[in-house]
Amino acid sequence: MQQVKGIKPSILYYVAKAAWEGNLTERKDEIFQLLENEFKDKVSRRYVANQIRIAMGLNPHDSDQILDSDDEEALMGIASEPVIVTNTAACDLCPNSSHECGNDCAAGAIGRDAKGKIIIDYDKCLGEGACITMCSLGAFAEKSQFVPLINILRQRTFPVYASVAPAFVGQFGPEVTAGKLRSALIALGFTDMTETALFADLITMKEAFEFDEKVINAEDFLLTSCCCPVWIKLIENKYPELVKHISPAVSPMIASGRVLKAFYPTAKVVFIGPCIAKKSEALLPDLNDAIDFVLTFQELAAIIEAAGINLAEAKDDENATASWAGRVYAHTGGVSSAVEETLARLIPYRTQKFNPVKADGIPDCQKLLNQINSGEVTANFIEGMACKGGCVGGPGRLIPAEDGKTHVENYGNQSEIRTPVENPQIYAILTRLGNDEKLPKLTGASPMSNLLARELRNMNQ
Ligand code: SF4
Repeated sequence: MQQVKGIKPSILYYVAKAAWEGNLTERKDEIFQLLENEFKDKVSRRYVANQIRIAMGLNPHDSDQILDSDDEEALMGIASEPVIVTNTAACDLCPNSSHECGNDCAAGAIGRDAKGKIIIDYDKCLGEGACITMCSLGAFAEKSQFVPLINILRQRTFPVYASVAPAFVGQFGPEVTAGKLRSALIALGFTDMTETALFADLITMKEAFEFDEKVINAEDFLLTSCCCPVWIKLIENKYPELVKHISPAVSPMIASGRVLKAFYPTAKVVFIGPCIAKKSEALLPDLNDAIDFVLTFQELAAIIEAAGINLAEAKDDENATASWAGRVYAHTGGVSSAVEETLARLIPYRTQKFNPVKADGIPDCQKLLNQINSGEVTANFIEGMACKGGCVGGPGRLIPAEDGKTHVENYGNQSEIRTPVENPQIYAILTRLGNDEKLPKLTGASPMSNLLARELRNMNQ
């Protein structure tokens, strides 16, 4: 067997480098040749060609040709569903090909076709991407979106803003601060970078108000909608009777895109985080007005390296700061803690006290939702995160989830602002959006609330 493990970062790097140099389509054969020199047998070449296509945002097509004539057009646009695809050549290279990979998928979405090749049942797939880290040979991979993004950055056709997820701390090395990341992104051609945590502050306020409005009696409860699109998809698909309990708040990612586009209507907004499911969230019909591209930390690392930028040596140039509450969203339990402290400041004297419970990973989420249905749960604020540990455990991360959690906790504690209620940046955003009240409630049907709200499927069950 040829050694194909660990090839993904070098393919991302080569594709990004050619895209930066503006000659990706001309150089596709050269890129393939470079890799082919290391991978001489036919199956390995098919594997490599598939991985190159996936890095270009295209579906793999199981041939050792990389691009068809139609594909060159697709390269100019955004990647489409399905985001997670299979590279079945990996199975032909697998020393353990009888392994029942499907048993490792919490949603039961992985099967085999008549030829024994892995397939994904997209009706069952929840899209969190655990399969991508599960198979070390790379039988599952997420389509990248950076080729059209690099074209826009090179040509400077639009203002481009980066919204960087709170899990970024420590991912690019302990010395890489938000300010250094911001400088590096500006050097890449971004107009500016904001931390998604700032918009998590905004959403924390909305969720606190939503909780106050919806949880009045002992039997009432709110399922948080923050952060995790997989948690929402799981409820919409398998627990439609619970959809009416979901908070209508959008995720901080969507909030960041909508607010930045309200400020800069011609801008493109790029979300950068550890999450694969965010690529699908950004394409949902009721949310696709917010985010133009989603990159993982792994993809950003490849793009920065390919552009020849040294992140550690970038200038430390930090901008608007989020509170502790917005920064701790990145680990399981963070949303609950953030909303709890914010609610205590906004509405201190409530009859029904805030009583949270959290689920960590898809099996835990399913167990908790079953317990709610059988009346075993007394909590009234229910948080679910699809990845073990929360977003710090997302499949596009660069460091182990436990290390990510420690970095996030330290970074949260470094903020001089505890909750969004004390964050002047939030009031500045609200004023710029046209709010003239001291503190708008962010619920109901006001324009401010609508900007931060989403539609939910199966709402009438
Ligand atoms: Fe994405 Fe975070 Fe949910 Fe994982 S826990 S699927 S990284 S939002």
